[in-house]
Amino acid sequence: MATSKTTSTGQTRSTAKSAGKYYSLPALPFAKDALEPHVSAETMEYHHDKHHKNYVDKLNELIKGSGMENLSLEDVIRQAEGPLFNNAAQAWNHAFFWNCLTPKSQAPKGGELREAIEKTFGSLEQFKKKFSEEAESLFGSGYVWLSKNDAGDLILEQRKDADNPLVDGLSPLLTLDVWEHAYYIDYRNVRKEFIAGFWKVVNWKFVEGRYVGELH
Ligand code: FE
Repeated sequence: MATSKTTSTGQTRSTAKSAGKYYSLPALPFAKDALEPHVSAETMEYHHDKHHKNYVDKLNELIKGSGMENLSLEDVIRQAEGPLFNNAAQAWNHAFFWNCLTPKSQAPKGGELREAIEKTFGSLEQFKKKFSEEAESLFGSGYVWLSKNDAGDLILEQRKDADNPLVDGLSPLLTLDVWEHAYYIDYRNVRKEFIAGFWKVVNWKFVEGRYVGELH
């Protein structure tokens, strides 16, 4: 019979050989106060240490006995449904969202990503405007995603709740979490100001790395 213990990082490791692989809460790629004043340390503490951790903990509970214990998190997202899908996707979505943020944001002045954005949206400014409109108009909870398909085309879309472009075979490049827990401490109900702050901390190097296939 499988037994398990929880490590100090929240990762559940099984002691049974056949019980497979479980998931851990990744550390933030920046200090909690690094994105201030656009995203406060208090928001990061709640969003990463409580919300994100809770999704990972729940995922570790639900994966047991699901038959998907040996899959990568991406494959769990592609195959699971219901609560297991929701928590697996939220575990992945948040880790991805943190990678999309940096205190050293610098929009690309050239290069493949910029060219693709200009070809698809007209200009970087037009892209930011369209992305912001999608973020503002998303009703309820969800994310705005910029992804690419196998042909390299850029796709901008809203997805509700935990939904993730991986389920449609797309490769996510950039996301913005517009669940209320992402901004209510800093901006209360004014999502528009949170979106404006997001553009000051976008990790364009990460987005570019994903677009050219250097980051997976
Ligand atoms: Fe969130």
